[in-house]
Amino acid sequence: RVVYVNGSYVPENEGKVSIFDRGFLFADGIYEVTAVINGKLVDYEPHAERLERSLNEISMAWPCSKAELRQMHEELIKRNKLDEGIIYIQVTRGSADRDFKFPKEAKSTLIGFTQVQKLLENPNAPAGVKVVTIPDIRWARRDIKSVMLLAPVLGKQRAYEEGAFEGWMVEDGKVTEGTSSNAYIVKDGKVITRPLSNSILAGCTRRSLFRMAKEEGVVIEERLFTPEEAYAADEAFLTSASNFVLPIVEIDGKRVGGGQPGPVVRKLREIYLDEARRQAGL
Ligand code: PMP
Repeated sequence: RVVYVNGSYVPENEGKVSIFDRGFLFADGIYEVTAVINGKLVDYEPHAERLERSLNEISMAWPCSKAELRQMHEELIKRNKLDEGIIYIQVTRGSADRDFKFPKEAKSTLIGFTQVQKLLENPNAPAGVKVVTIPDIRWARRDIKSVMLLAPVLGKQRAYEEGAFEGWMVEDGKVTEGTSSNAYIVKDGKVITRPLSNSILAGCTRRSLFRMAKEEGVVIEERLFTPEEAYAADEAFLTSASNFVLPIVEIDGKRVGGGQPGPVVRKLREIYLDEARRQAGL
């Protein structure tokens, strides 16, 4: 693989950053993950906008121009001949002697790499996945896409050890979101998901799905829901840039909707894939 590090494209084993990088020492950084299909970026613009917002929220400078960031994405696809997968990019506050406050001199670090992944034919989509609920132990600014991911790492590992694909985090008795995805249930044909706030990440997939659902006449109700409500739902699903719309068939060992992906989620996944294919020129 060819990776990007601060302006250079190098073989992956030559892609290096300082041990003093603040991303490494303090998790003082922001990231984004964008899907690639047929060598084309899917929904790039919302990711670029969210990056800008995250950087602003933590007073971090852009590492390059917006045009250069887009160019870097295109170049990584080209140099790696990436057909289908994701591009991960990360910006940190650069490297400086260890001190909590912002360094005066440091220049932001920007890295990027590709990962091959099957997105259109996601092996988990036909049968759906299991989730387990776990306590949401994250900080209070989950709207910022920070690289400080220890809580999601522990949460995903626990879910995996319990035989589940994802952990749905619960705070004050209500589901916030998945460790790396947004969370939804379907009841009486209506999609229910938590409204945006500092408690969850504003998913780019969520945003696109809202637009498509509206066009298709699918009603989305933004409100909090409990795990118990989820157990009794007709359907459940998650969204993320690397899974699009993924059916959930079991929550905490309880089958949802008879343990099969239901009609609403199957339709929403199809609508999403159609749009992704269209953007990819397929
Ligand atoms: N919530 C969290 C906590 C996430 O990490 C992600 C994936 N980055 C999402 C939601 C989904 O966001 P997106 O649709 O932009 O991938």
